[in-house]
Amino acid sequence: MGKKLVIVGGGIAGITAGIYARMSGFETTIIEKHSLPGGNCTSWRRNGYLFEGAIHWLSGTSPRNPDNLLWRETGALNDMTHIYNHDPYLYTKYDGIDLYLYRDLNKLEEHFLEISPDDLKAIKKLSKDIKCYSTIKMPLENEKGVKLKKQTPEMALRDIIAMLPALMRMGRHMKISIADYAKMFKHAGIHRLLTTACPPYFPAMALLFFLATMSGGDGGYPEGGSLEMIQRMADTYKSLGGKLLLNTKAEKIIVENNRSKGVQTGENIIDADCIIVAMDTITAVNTLFDSPPDDSWIADITRVEKGCVCTFAGIGVKADLSHLPHSMVINLDEAFEVAGEKMPFLSLNNYAEYKNYAPEGSTALTAILGFDDTYEWWKNEKTKGTYQKTKETLKERLENILAHHIPETSGKIEIIDIATPLTYERYTGSWHGSYMCRMEAGAKMKTYPCNLQNVKNIFFAGQRTKFPGGLPPALESGRRAVQLLCKEFNIIFQNEVI
Ligand SMILES: Cc1cc2nc3c(=O)[nH]c(=O)nc-3n(C[C@H](O)[C@H](O)[C@H](O)COP(=O)(O)OP(=O)(O)OC[C@H]3O[C@@H](n4cnc5c(N)ncnc54)[C@H](O)[C@@H]3O)c2cc1C
Repeated sequence: MGKKLVIVGGGIAGITAGIYARMSGFETTIIEKHSLPGGNCTSWRRNGYLFEGAIHWLSGTSPRNPDNLLWRETGALNDMTHIYNHDPYLYTKYDGIDLYLYRDLNKLEEHFLEISPDDLKAIKKLSKDIKCYSTIKMPLENEKGVKLKKQTPEMALRDIIAMLPALMRMGRHMKISIADYAKMFKHAGIHRLLTTACPPYFPAMALLFFLATMSGGDGGYPEGGSLEMIQRMADTYKSLGGKLLLNTKAEKIIVENNRSKGVQTGENIIDADCIIVAMDTITAVNTLFDSPPDDSWIADITRVEKGCVCTFAGIGVKADLSHLPHSMVINLDEAFEVAGEKMPFLSLNNYAEYKNYAPEGSTALTAILGFDDTYEWWKNEKTKGTYQKTKETLKERLENILAHHIPETSGKIEIIDIATPLTYERYTGSWHGSYMCRMEAGAKMKTYPCNLQNVKNIFFAGQRTKFPGGLPPALESGRRAVQLLCKEFNIIFQNEVI
């Protein structure tokens, strides 16, 4: 019998941990408070429309990205998963001019030059930066000292050498924001396009990584999106003999003599030889322990003042919008105020081309409204008793904007479903409803130890533990937590069925 492992949280990090732990011989139980696995990696149906809730682009869809191996080992992707790599992948109209972000770098250069010959120098610089970042291949990290059944591919020296120019740029690009980087362009439309792809306060490095990912044929959308991907992972986990307890909330971690002994869920205690906490770290340390652990890395994470949160709109339109781009930014004459934040544009994703996302002849659209941390703003609305009314007003304004800019939607909107940071907090237990770290220019990339000084045999995983968060860091963190456990118990880490 293997060691009994209990994993708290069945999001990407938790399911990944479950899969590698089963492969490595642990007896595993995942406790998930929701009625389905996935956490933030989810989609939901309303009135026949499917609203994609997470994957807009998935780093690691290309085999050239080392994370592709992990997505495949966990069953998230397989040879049958069709990946959509749209090119162009973002569209906007600015002052009557059509602007596109192309994956193909030559096309992007030509397009920008045609629109703004005065920006020749800036266009060449952007193109050179993207080419440089395209050489970056982050190797798969293994925990120092862990015994591996199967070695992961090592990086070739020539690949490391090829990365040097990019590594030299990264320090500089970490210090300036995307908004400042984009200022090198005179053309306001290009500036707008570049500052809507990622939050504009993120370091320029994040934008360049994103553009390089896209130009390298990575960052696609797997058919079926978040819901089907997490289902494939959960199926992999269950096929390995792992237990998944849904609708089960962890309430307390039982600690005796500085060792974790189990997890309390309501009246029950699930015994454990070891635990991986794969729910949000900040919420976990504040709710699952008698007193929050005082490890310095936890203090560091908890000091974060802002998370990446969003107000999300799923929009069901009784019209076929397949002639519109799949991802577009609508520039507004008058800023649109969402939860106190003034948005000069509206970003939309259009799911018209996918099967079963909407009733026949209809279209599902989604929008992420805003970049600021609006959690306290929405909380205040709740306290005042105006939360529902404010959501209704937001829907009306959204409907008017859409009718004005996409006349086909006028009178055709069947549903607008709004999720606020409070909705995300309720469903995922994530701190402030946040789904990523807020990465600002000048911030440092951090890797946390993910263990506790005073309690043995417990490790942490989840996007919060691996800067800057998102799906790949959640995946990598789940695998790493199992490596930490293997090291502690002197067990060989396996990444295939024994
Ligand atoms: C609108 C939106 C768009 C996004 N777009 C992208 C994108 O395009 N690309 C990308 O890479 N990332 C994207 N992300 C981010 C990505 O979805 C998340 O970072 C990732 O899914 C986090 O995974 P996780 O496993 O770390 O945490 P979570 O998803 O938060 O999982 C934690 C799990 O723990 C469970 N849980 C919490 N408390 C308890 C408890 N007490 N007991 C039992 N279970 C508990 C929760 O229900 C949840 O299932 C997006 C997120 C959102 C919201």
